[in-house]
Amino acid sequence: MKQDIKSMTLEELAEALSALGEPSFRAKQVYTWLHHGVVDFAEMTNLSKALRQRLSEAFEITAPVVVRKQISALDGTIKYLWRLRDGNCVETVLMRYHHGNTVCISSEVGCAMSCAFCASTIGGLVRRLTASEMLDEVLFTQLDSGLEISNIVLMGIGEPLDNYDTVLRFLHLVNSPEGMNIGMRHISLSTCGLVPKILALAELSLQLTLSVSLHAPDDETRSKIMPVNRRWNVDELLAACRLYFEKTGRRISFEYAMIRDVNDSPETARLLAQKLKGQQAHVNLIPLNNVEESPLKPSSRQTVQRFQQILESEGLTCTVRRTLGSDIDASCGQLRRNYQKTQEKA
Ligand code: SAH
Repeated sequence: MKQDIKSMTLEELAEALSALGEPSFRAKQVYTWLHHGVVDFAEMTNLSKALRQRLSEAFEITAPVVVRKQISALDGTIKYLWRLRDGNCVETVLMRYHHGNTVCISSEVGCAMSCAFCASTIGGLVRRLTASEMLDEVLFTQLDSGLEISNIVLMGIGEPLDNYDTVLRFLHLVNSPEGMNIGMRHISLSTCGLVPKILALAELSLQLTLSVSLHAPDDETRSKIMPVNRRWNVDELLAACRLYFEKTGRRISFEYAMIRDVNDSPETARLLAQKLKGQQAHVNLIPLNNVEESPLKPSSRQTVQRFQQILESEGLTCTVRRTLGSDIDASCGQLRRNYQKTQEKA
């Protein structure tokens, strides 16, 4: 098996090249080619032919293949379904905001977390992505679209903190000045609430934005829609979030998908406000996206507005997420899921 060269840090590459008897500046040359999307050692024209040959014998360069590309006629959102080298597929969404082009990337093929409203978890976890595969989502979205990417959200398929070490490696790569150089403050990571991993992340004091998928302020409701809550409950999760803020000084963004008659009553809003009191928090209300396999339905616009008003009157900052790409299955594992269904039928 050849080694996955794009998952290596610059320092690791320098070590590998020095073992081949090469001077240290070669590592930077190779790293720069890789992070510009070169997929064949033969194209690394500032290296000798002999070295290119030796590298191609020892290493492989990952590159995903576009299986589907959909462009929203409504807002220019682009959704990619990529095929990875083992045949598995993941999706990436490019959203065009005023503050810059943002990619939403996947961290795993499938997901083990079993949230009741989420299409990504149907079929469970297949495998975790490598650091190079996550980097490729950003890199090849930029190259294919011709649009420079300034922000990344880890909110696609998978639970990033379930792939903790590799996600940290990816962050190091994408943040590196010799690579895509995307600042930590331009990166958000979303988790369903793996408490020990939130605590571990807090110790690193990264400047990224942590989003926590809360979706309910009480254990009864949250355990029903998010099985992870049976392992770490709401109070344990919120305590970890407070600690995270104390350590990093970074305000947490709480995601809250509004589900009709499940978590959208005025009493629930008041309980949520009470639970988040004293916490540096921002609440992001997301009208639930319909998933065909699920009986859960979105709350009405009025209900969302009412919920928002209650939170604001209790002193919380709260926004309602704008829906982008609603004409192209642009949310939460839907493109991969629909592609799977067409394959099942065929
Ligand atoms: N596993 C991570 C990140 C992936 S999901 C997490 O749970 O945070 C990104 C966000 O989309 C999460 O807040 C998730 O709960 C939410 N989500 C999933 N399915 C949804 C749906 N059908 N409608 C609205 N939001 C959904």
